[in-house]
Parts: sequence; C-alpha cells; structure tokens
Amino acid sequence: MIVESRELKLKNRIPVTRIAKYWEGLKEGKVFKTVCKCGMSYYPPKADCVCGNQTEWVEIVGEGIVESFTVVHSIPACFEWGGVYRIVIAKFEDVRVMGWSEEDVKIGERVSILTKKDASGIWKVWFEKR
Ligand SMILES: [Zn+2]
Repeated sequence: MIVESRELKLKNRIPVTRIAKYWEGLKEGKVFKTVCKCGMSYYPPKADCVCGNQTEWVEIVGEGIVESFTVVHSIPACFEWGGVYRIVIAKFEDVRVMGWSEEDVKIGERVSILTKKDASGIWKVWFEKR
C-alpha cells in the first residue's frame, strides 16, 4: 500500500506570561504594542527592549495604512472558512501589524484595527476599511 499523504498536527507551547496582556487585550478588542523609553516600539510585543529596559504597553489605535497583502485562494482543507481570505500588513505609526481582512483591500488604503474570535475560538487581529 502506498501512502500518498497523511495528516500532520502540530501543537506548540510558548511561554506567554510576560506578554499575557497582549492575549487578554485581543479578547477585549484591543491590540497592544510595547514601547521603550529609548524610542523603540515592538509589534509583536516584547517585554524587554534591546537596550535592556523593560517596555510599557500601549494600545494601537487610529488608522493604519495597508502596506502589503495577499489573497489566499487555495484554502487548506482544515481551514474554517470556505472562501478566499486576505492576510494584510498595515502600518500604525511606528509598528507594522499583520492581520486578517474580509474586504478587498488595496495598498495605501486606510484601515482600522479590531479583533474577532474565529470559529475555533481563537482571537485574531482584523482590519476594516475606514
Ligand atoms: Zn529601549
């Protein structure tokens, strides 16, 4: 018997204690970055800056500008949505944020940031046109 394919399930555990506020924020509709008094900003957030100081939490608000996106037409079999989806990178002041969009975005368009829970119960970053 020839095995043509088999299912591969990966499950990773990563320490999130010091960035727990990020994950809790998603549940409250907030997306956080971290900033340091030296001027560095981090998204995804980091608890420690390269300069050695601890960072502080700042909510990402306002409008971002779409810098890049991809439209995914080849949907994985295990994927919760049946249709085309988009992964977008938008710049909000000093950080670039990757998220999902259900809308047909274009580079240079303005988007707002929000969070949504997917069908599997995972909170994700989303963008909507302004
Ligand atoms: Zn710093």
